[in-house]
Amino acid sequence: MTESTFKVENIIKDFPILNQQVNGKKLVYLDSSATSQTPTQVTDSIVDYYNRYNSNVHRGVHTLGTLATDGYEKARETVRRFINAQYFEEIVFTRGTTAAINLVAYSYGDHNVSEGDEIVVTQMEHHANIVPWQQLAKRTGAKLKFIPMNESGELEREAIEQTITDNTKIVAVTHVSNVLGTINDVKYIAEVAHQHDAVIAVDGAQSAPHMNVDVQDLDVDFFSFSGHKMLGPTGIGVLYGKRELLDKMEPIEFGGDMIDFVGLEDATWTDLPTKFEAGTPLIAEAIALAEAIRYIDEIGLDNIHQHEFEVVNYAYNEMSKIDGLEIYGPTPDKRAGLITFNVEGVHPHDLATALDSEGVAVRAGHHCAQPLMKWLNQSSTARASFYIYNTTEDVDILIQALKRTKEFFS
Ligand code: PLP
Repeated sequence: MTESTFKVENIIKDFPILNQQVNGKKLVYLDSSATSQTPTQVTDSIVDYYNRYNSNVHRGVHTLGTLATDGYEKARETVRRFINAQYFEEIVFTRGTTAAINLVAYSYGDHNVSEGDEIVVTQMEHHANIVPWQQLAKRTGAKLKFIPMNESGELEREAIEQTITDNTKIVAVTHVSNVLGTINDVKYIAEVAHQHDAVIAVDGAQSAPHMNVDVQDLDVDFFSFSGHKMLGPTGIGVLYGKRELLDKMEPIEFGGDMIDFVGLEDATWTDLPTKFEAGTPLIAEAIALAEAIRYIDEIGLDNIHQHEFEVVNYAYNEMSKIDGLEIYGPTPDKRAGLITFNVEGVHPHDLATALDSEGVAVRAGHHCAQPLMKWLNQSSTARASFYIYNTTEDVDILIQALKRTKEFFS
């Protein structure tokens, strides 16, 4: 789709969930950073799978089993192309970003990190990219270090260079902050990590849905993301890992599918990527994720990024005009399509409840980023996040609802 043929009105038609009233008002869904909506193309692919070829993969030779296996493995190939991984063996299906990060922390971490080593993270991480590393540090006696942020919530090159040292074994950093919207220069962080022989594991939960990701160009060692944040279903995610690293790593789950040979006392593992996919995998979900990727590809990630930039830029400017409304994080040119904010005198939960009564869905709370809330000196905040189906009219409705809420609480 070229920029000129990209029409939000056409896209919205693919999302029946958006065509409804909530509390008597048109639904304005501004919570896609938590979970995005799914187009009918994706939900249809799930129904088609269950109606036509639902069967287990990799085991049977019957027709349905072969169709399911083909669909599942083609989905892997679609994901490989989406992030430009070199080999299909580098794509491991997981339950989501959280499961993917835990896999790296246990499988790579437990065997490559020891007492006195450093694990470098940042204070802007989602709990999914901090707690597994805290636990790894506890298991191994390693030290957790944080790349400090500047006042706008960005990681400057000097801070990156000063924090990563020859003792660093793993750098775990988010590509895009789910609270500040900061886009981190993970290519540069990877360069610095590699200069010190450390690996870099990137949390791509908030970047993969919104911008072109080329894992070879970024030269990251691990990259994780979730289907439900990129128009796909819940329960499916991806761990990308460089083949030479995954090859040497041990599985963390054991059972069917991932074995090569099982004796009474011992067993051996099958090849990549199946050795990391014990048990019946998420077949319908993987196939639906591939459908979501096709949908995104059809629109084009550059168009998506440009559209979101226009919407978030407009929202940023309009929200900035509201007295007592504070926005956290960098300016729109340096952020992804989300805005985290507080309104003076209104608790974020009251704010989100009041907005919901007007049909506007925003998130309130700590956004699974309590260390970042501490940095912001806030216990919670509100967040409006945007995707391809949002428009500047949605922003106008948000602004009016914010003004009314502020008035009500003053
Ligand atoms: N990382 C970031 C930056 C996120 O925003 C999220 C979800 O909000 C996650 C990780 C966890 O994703 P999931 O719950 O799909 O595992």
